[in-house]
Amino acid sequence: MNDCLFCRIVARQSPSDIVYEDDAVVAFKDIYPKAPVHLLIVPRRHIASLVDATDEDALVLGRCVVVARRLAEDSGYAEKGFRLGVNTGPEGGQVVYHVHFHFTAGRKAR
Ligand code: 5GP
Ligand code: ZN
Repeated sequence: MNDCLFCRIVARQSPSDIVYEDDAVVAFKDIYPKAPVHLLIVPRRHIASLVDATDEDALVLGRCVVVARRLAEDSGYAEKGFRLGVNTGPEGGQVVYHVHFHFTAGRKAR
């Protein structure tokens, strides 16, 4: 029914490896990991891209960042470090149009 892949994952209508969820945020493993740890952190609510974010989205987007800290602790990378990135728009490398934070760890940043 829903043509957004990440909305389907959030609704558990499509399979994924969910590692964290609360009332506003879900995190799951990236299917094509680009680092030893590669997780995607998404708001449950559909926001297509950061360019569509409004003041009403500030709380949930902030929650995504705090969830990243929690995932860093859970995966043992809080001290070693990690990257958090949001690809935005066609020239920003965005492929899936439901805002997601890439959490990557386990490889030194270039
Ligand atoms: P983007 O390029 O939009 O920032 O990132 C989309 C990410 O979603 C990519 O890293 C890609 O590997 C991941 N991805 C694409 N399809 C699926 C899927 O069906 N399941 C999961 N878990 N990740 C996906
Ligand atoms: Zn969506």
